[in-house]
Amino acid sequence: MPITVVQHLPDACRPTWAEIHLGHLIHNFRAIRERVGEGVQICAVVKAEAYGHGAVVVARCLESAGADWFGVATVEEGAALREAGIARPILCFGVAPGQADLVLEYGLTPVVFEPALLEQLEARARAAQTVLAVHVEVDTGMGRVGVPVRELADVLRALGRFSHVRLDGLMTHLAAADDPARAEFTREQIARFRQALQMAEALGFHPRYRHLANSAGVRAYPEAWGNMVRPGGLLYGLWSGPRASTHPEIVLETPAGRRALQPVLSLHTRIVFLKEVDAGTPLGYGSAFVTSRPSRIATLPIGYHDGYRRALSNCGRVLVRGRFAPVVGRVSMDWTLVDVTDIPEARVGDEVILIGRADGRQITAEELAEWCGTISYEITCSISARVPRVIVPAE
Ligand SMILES: *Cc1c(COP(=O)(O)O)cnc(C)c1O
Repeated sequence: MPITVVQHLPDACRPTWAEIHLGHLIHNFRAIRERVGEGVQICAVVKAEAYGHGAVVVARCLESAGADWFGVATVEEGAALREAGIARPILCFGVAPGQADLVLEYGLTPVVFEPALLEQLEARARAAQTVLAVHVEVDTGMGRVGVPVRELADVLRALGRFSHVRLDGLMTHLAAADDPARAEFTREQIARFRQALQMAEALGFHPRYRHLANSAGVRAYPEAWGNMVRPGGLLYGLWSGPRASTHPEIVLETPAGRRALQPVLSLHTRIVFLKEVDAGTPLGYGSAFVTSRPSRIATLPIGYHDGYRRALSNCGRVLVRGRFAPVVGRVSMDWTLVDVTDIPEARVGDEVILIGRADGRQITAEELAEWCGTISYEITCSISARVPRVIVPAE
């Protein structure tokens, strides 16, 4: 089910929504632009519905802000952007066998690491009487996809025999650039990529684009920028690295100064039910919480089907009237309970912030991630289609 994106939350709607702050998105994009400079192209990664923010709305906004390329995980994602009128080049990280026709039909630029796919693309491009630009991914240490460096020469020689596919880019993906403790590994990856590039040049290839850097590479490894970078998380004000929650500010160093990135997504609901209970009252599935004092318990219409993870049971917290209220009992599929005993002004209808800030207090996706044993990317990606995304335009 696609994500619902609206300009305003309808009146007669379940009061659980995410806000997508386009001003913050543009701010983050500009900070990345300032960091890498004008000479490096930016491939804005909008795969997975732009990490749960809504791929079309994000891509439209970034296209106007000056993104050079868009990066998607699948041909289907690329096709959806084209259907929505996105005109910039789209780099598709994962083309499945049998999708060569769609690649041509939608004008996508495929990332290739499988000789069989190259053959299919060559055949389809020949039939369409066109020359298709492709980027070849080299595996320098990620160990996921990519041509192993020692097989690169063979793949390139095969490519050189084709007349309807052209090597336009050489790329690799960094595995651990967000972890300062693994800096040596990252530098080895960068060195292996340089070798791969030299190998390609020795074989007579001069790929126009040379790119390695994800968000972590943008932030920490200028030597990995090549002439294009592929940030995802940073655009959304998210960070994937270890102990992200202890550094609530995600900062980019730019020639013009330090730029703190701004979270693009906030998550909201409202109190729909409020009750006073005695000490000793069991709450929710498994009675996993029992009150130890007379308590006021608020019920929120959000649960794990919305992406408010069950791991937050008895450990998350939310903001009510600018104050923290703990999650009590198990998060269920559609409902979550919070203890508002210490917020006596709380009323039915009050807005509740699950990710975001109010009155100087903040809950980040990184904090939620830490409570759940994951990274912030998974938190925003998991916010389901049941939660409408409300667009907050840039001022
Ligand atoms: C997801 C992805 C990125 C973006 O990663 P971030 O950590 O979000 O910046 C870049 N390149 C490839 C190939 C990816 O799969």
